[in-house]
Amino acid sequence: MNEYLLDRIRSCPTLPSLPTIAVQVLDLAQKEEVDIGEIARIISKDPALSGKILKTVNSSFYGRQQAVSTISQALVILGLQSVKTLVLGFSLVSNLAKSKSKGFQHINYWRHSIFAAAAARSIACKLGIVQQEEAFLIGLLSDIGMLVMDQVLGDEYGEVIESAVSHYDIIRLEIQNLQISHAQVSGILAEQWKLPPLLSVPIANHHSSSEVPDPQLKRLTEVVELSSRCADVFVDKEPAQAIAEVRAVAKSVHGMEQGEIDKLLEEIGNKTKEIAPLFEINLGPMQTYESILKRANEALVNITLQTQAQAQNLQQQNAELKQQALTDRLTGLANRAAFDQKCESLFAEAQRTGTPLSVLFIDLDKFKTLNDTHGHAAGDEALRVVGRILKQSARPQDVAARYGGEEMTLLLPDTPRPIAAIIGETLRKAIEAKPIEHDKKQIPVTASIGVASWEPGSPLKQLSHLLKAADLALYNAKHTGRNRVKVFNPNPAQNKAA
Ligand code: GH3
Ligand code: MG
Ligand code: MG
Repeated sequence: MNEYLLDRIRSCPTLPSLPTIAVQVLDLAQKEEVDIGEIARIISKDPALSGKILKTVNSSFYGRQQAVSTISQALVILGLQSVKTLVLGFSLVSNLAKSKSKGFQHINYWRHSIFAAAAARSIACKLGIVQQEEAFLIGLLSDIGMLVMDQVLGDEYGEVIESAVSHYDIIRLEIQNLQISHAQVSGILAEQWKLPPLLSVPIANHHSSSEVPDPQLKRLTEVVELSSRCADVFVDKEPAQAIAEVRAVAKSVHGMEQGEIDKLLEEIGNKTKEIAPLFEINLGPMQTYESILKRANEALVNITLQTQAQAQNLQQQNAELKQQALTDRLTGLANRAAFDQKCESLFAEAQRTGTPLSVLFIDLDKFKTLNDTHGHAAGDEALRVVGRILKQSARPQDVAARYGGEEMTLLLPDTPRPIAAIIGETLRKAIEAKPIEHDKKQIPVTASIGVASWEPGSPLKQLSHLLKAADLALYNAKHTGRNRVKVFNPNPAQNKAA
């Protein structure tokens, strides 16, 4: 965070303050024995505020059958929470609306705030969240940090956010240029006002709900985050992107289907139209969600296609990465991890179907000497050449892998021991017949090969036994002179003779 800017914010003398009436009502509401009569008296002392509250609770925004004519009645019928929220909202908005703008557009700010407030209440209602009044207030106050930054930085802030194409873009520009977002600044102000965490945490995180650890606060923050995106739909010049994002977030975070979201946005448009005049906020020429959607439709189709293409690309990249993670870079053969996986599944499959499975271990002879004599590059070339021979001789169902160093392996499903021995011998000959070319020299390469097979009734009951057997056969090939194939025979007497 930008500590220097934080200091300037904290010591700014013109920082918005909590109106006296809001402080009094909050204090009284926090007492152990809440005196509703006293709260009603305090609110009623401000006729403008009382009038706004009564007008609001009687509006169709609240959708109440019964008319409410006094603040005491409002407190009884709607409850302390709702009235307290309205006192805070109204008194703050009328205080703040008086503050002069330095470098940014206040009209859009208030339009966005009232859409976000109405959206937060509608979404909380739809999701059955109890704190609907709090949601409204949080929505209304979330962007208050923008007013603070406007006060503290003036034109500089205006310049920072000037090029923003959407409200979401503002966050990016703030972080990039000021290392602090308006959401964080809103949170600092909410704390200074000593608002409870139920309000201050969602306010501070209204663009970063994933960072809220407490599950209840997180849920409320997610609601407010979505509500801000809903406000973008009505305020952004190009609403298609905002619509696409509301749809995506509402689906992934709240499990809402497109039809539900469209209905919700329609409702948010209507509710905002009712509530904005009560807060004396001028919405300007108002468009219904239906007409916004109509206008955005073509762009929306393009965005959807783009998103699909991106998802496809991502899928392909993931597949490629997965493939890379399983491939040996030098030889292009399967790597050890892939071999281990395949081995397990082929062994299980062989046991299940009762078909034989053979394993060949192929180790280059005197490879250290080859490296020492002709250099590491020649060694690498030898590995590539032998890898290619292995790949060419493998059937689609076989697995040719680099086991490690200069040891390779071939897994042969559905292949009995005598056939595996023949394949081993063919391989050996092919390697011997293909000296590598390096520095205009022909360098002979040979390999020793160990073969072992599993078949029904084999004493090699586990995969590890089979691999060990192939390794023993390879050891045998090395010790009987190299450049030869040895087959593990489960009958020990025959093994010795081999
Ligand atoms: P043996 O016939 O008994 O198998 O003898 P060897 O020299 O082939 O066996 P040893 O295990 O002593 O040496 C293996 C050598 O393989 C040592 C190591 O430097 C070399 N090696 C392992 N991986 C690579 C590689 O990726 N590239 C190259 N050029 N050499 C490698
Ligand atoms: Mg070797
Ligand atoms: Mg070796």
